[in-house]
Amino acid sequence: MALPDPIVPPDPTRLPYPTGSPGPTRLPGPAGSPRIALTFDSNMTDAMLARLTSGKVKSYANVGVIDELQRSHTPATFFLAGKWVERYPGLTHRIAADPSFELASHSYAHLAFTTHCYHLGALPTEQMAADVERSFRVLAPFGGRQTRYFRFPGGCYDARALRAIAPTHCTVVQYDIVGDDAFNNDPRAITNNVLRNAHNGGIVVLHITQANAPRTADALPAIITGLRARGYQLVTVSELLTPRPQ
Ligand SMILES: [Zn+2]
Repeated sequence: MALPDPIVPPDPTRLPYPTGSPGPTRLPGPAGSPRIALTFDSNMTDAMLARLTSGKVKSYANVGVIDELQRSHTPATFFLAGKWVERYPGLTHRIAADPSFELASHSYAHLAFTTHCYHLGALPTEQMAADVERSFRVLAPFGGRQTRYFRFPGGCYDARALRAIAPTHCTVVQYDIVGDDAFNNDPRAITNNVLRNAHNGGIVVLHITQANAPRTADALPAIITGLRARGYQLVTVSELLTPRPQ
């Protein structure tokens, strides 16, 4: 069976990039005005759910990010973990109801699809396809602009993981502009990470997990105005992947 083709590889300087995985292929920049896709990941593990239940953490849902995107009329693509969607159906409905936003999968349980991926517990290979399918099943009832895009938890993948999820016929969409907003308390640094690495055809990764990425909404206005001031059109991943007439 043909392997799904990862659209953008994880930054090899930041993330594990096992040998034997498909080589890095940067998305060719489309003709015309330069375009960039802002993407936002959510994650939710059982440990995070326990922190919510115990009251140790107040929220893993960053409403401020959605507010700012809507205020500035900025399209975006959301890679949502199934367990996050189940915990935050109201915010998921709000995202799905906006035609500028599209929905994609960030797995169901946000477990690792490789043996070592940060602190994430590993998902057995034989459960990988089912986990991806389950995440799309959780998203489907919310309607809106559904996709078959999938992003690996932690950005970690290898050839075995790609083979395991091939039966789901999803399209793997990684990223090549890392905002580094997770556990980052400096909105200006987050903004600079994005603007410094901006390029035509780029895919930015940020998070909407409030407690684990507390300053994303504060960085967002300068990211959006900075990219637009540099001539970038902000688009969804689907739009970025659609070739434009020359
Ligand atoms: Zn993640």
